[in-house]
Amino acid sequence: MKALSDLENNDISIEKEISLTDYSTMRLRSQGTIVKIKSKEALIQVIQKLAKHQIKYLVIGNGSNLLLKEVEPSPLLKLEFPFERKILETVSLSYNLPAAIHLSLLVKAAMSLGLKGWEALAGIPASLGGAVAMNAGTALGEICQIVEMVKIINSKGEEKVLNVSPVDFKYRGNNFLQEGDVIYEVTLKHLGIEASLKDTILHYLQKRTAEQPLDKKTCGSVFKNIKSEGVTCAAGHYIDIMGMKGFSKNGISVSSKHANFFENEEGGTYSDMVSMMEYVRGELYLQFGKRFDPEVKS
Ligand SMILES: Cc1cc2nc3c(=O)[nH]c(=O)nc-3n(C[C@H](O)[C@H](O)[C@H](O)COP(=O)(O)OP(=O)(O)OC[C@H]3O[C@@H](n4cnc5c(N)ncnc54)[C@H](O)[C@@H]3O)c2cc1C
Repeated sequence: MKALSDLENNDISIEKEISLTDYSTMRLRSQGTIVKIKSKEALIQVIQKLAKHQIKYLVIGNGSNLLLKEVEPSPLLKLEFPFERKILETVSLSYNLPAAIHLSLLVKAAMSLGLKGWEALAGIPASLGGAVAMNAGTALGEICQIVEMVKIINSKGEEKVLNVSPVDFKYRGNNFLQEGDVIYEVTLKHLGIEASLKDTILHYLQKRTAEQPLDKKTCGSVFKNIKSEGVTCAAGHYIDIMGMKGFSKNGISVSSKHANFFENEEGGTYSDMVSMMEYVRGELYLQFGKRFDPEVKS
């Protein structure tokens, strides 16, 4: 990544042609370049430089919904802005938070302060930016219910401030991000204070541990559920009916705990995962006439 070499400083570090395997929760074997960025000004500098050289990039949060290729053609941009944890120790009307922070910190704050609406984030192993980009959610709600404002740097290196509400989001996505937009800050509100929130969250986390293969290398739900006219067709349910739990191919297996989670048994690659996804998707169509779209990104 010669184009960026002269940008390295305290706020920008570039690691070239390294193993990227540990940057995603599925840990597919991958190699490439990662640019770690610690401030907004540094992010603008990096994006402007990449734009000048017409180099595409991929933003990575916690890598919990990303399939990284054997050789990643684009540099990964990873935000590492500093964060003052103290702001999560008191109740405020809203919180300005860096996109890089892990949702587990927010769930911890929700439990101790009773921040209603934040229970929706329980158990999702994501960064805040990734969760907003994906409109992450659980049986307890979706992040769109508590997002007030999103600050981004666009693909030209320009700063944009977007006031958003639930109508700006969709199931596992949003309607406001353009290609190359990087969320660097998010303002979250809460929906009131609820003393019993901690119990709700702990109960829900227990249920997830029982139902999902949280100790395995996965990327969460592989396929989106199909939602139409108020009815949800859960991809995992249909894969389960086909008897595919435990089915394994080239080191990737359908989890025997939750059929919409695929596990990387050892050394699996992007191609192995894509071929497994195509196979299962094809079977779903043959058996039920339903086309399930991937939830995971690449
Ligand atoms: C065990 C497990 C359980 C999971 N459970 C759930 C669940 O209950 N509900 C749910 O919704 N998801 C779940 N997921 C999937 C995943 O956690 C979510 O999709 C999450 O929102 C991804 O966040 P991330 O930070 O890991 O993003 P990444 O996986 O790094 O990236 C996902 C997408 O967001 C983009 N992105 C990331 N950061 C930014 C940014 N700062 N600005 C712009 N774009 C960005 C990436 O380019 C990519 O397109 C689960 C995953 C695992 C492994």
